[in-house]
Amino acid sequence: MKRKIALQLSGVERHYGQGDTVLSILKGADFTLHSGEIVALVAPSGTGKSTLLHVAGLLEHPDKGEVFINGKSCNNLPDDQRTAIRRSEIGFVYQFHHLLPEFSALENIMMPQLIGGLAWNETRERASQLLDYMRIGHRATHRPAELSGGEQQRVAIARAVANAPLVLLADEPTGNLDPETAHYVFDALEALVRQSGLAAVIATHNLDLARRMDRRVTISDGKVHEI
Ligand code: ADP
Ligand code: MG
Repeated sequence: MKRKIALQLSGVERHYGQGDTVLSILKGADFTLHSGEIVALVAPSGTGKSTLLHVAGLLEHPDKGEVFINGKSCNNLPDDQRTAIRRSEIGFVYQFHHLLPEFSALENIMMPQLIGGLAWNETRERASQLLDYMRIGHRATHRPAELSGGEQQRVAIARAVANAPLVLLADEPTGNLDPETAHYVFDALEALVRQSGLAAVIATHNLDLARRMDRRVTISDGKVHEI
């Protein structure tokens, strides 16, 4: 059986103006992510990992090339449709949690679903399940500032998958954590991705973690290569 393609980048280019010069970060990057697959993105700082994830997650437009989500080309869609696809199909986890400080862990996870139009009770139920799954059910009413770094990232991961997206994009999600906590958080992330059949791209500097994923890619000379 042919596996479904969740995300595809084709000939993606991204250039940044830097004074008089142009920094060419992505120079024709091709990448295919199948449903249910977890891929590590391992490359030195400054090579374009975040840029690639932002383009893939429809947070930035490529200067050239195409991004397909679930087989649909997203380049020429109006912004409101790109936003709608981003909200329903993409979960994003940043290196720093980016949780809303004035809301509890539970409320932070509920937010994307409420914005997506789900009913309050349903939303609350799913958010609680996700918190339990990430083993932080006992922290539901705590605000981000009252949580440890590892707990904050687990809430951020739960929030990213709350809408049951097709693709999870994680940008060095354990980069700010000590090695032991990073492993613990990564275990929870991997279990959640495997259990839900999501496809995921996880940028990481941690080769031990990268080894556990299905496939590893890197960026060099502005292109994506298997390693
Ligand atoms: P990585 O995540 O691999 O560390 P990034 O994708 O963040 O790399 O950045 C790649 C390069 O592009 C870096 O040199 C960075 O300074 C540059 N860059 C990223 N975003 C911008 C921007 N908005 N404007 C100018 N340069 C940028
Ligand atoms: Mg980065």
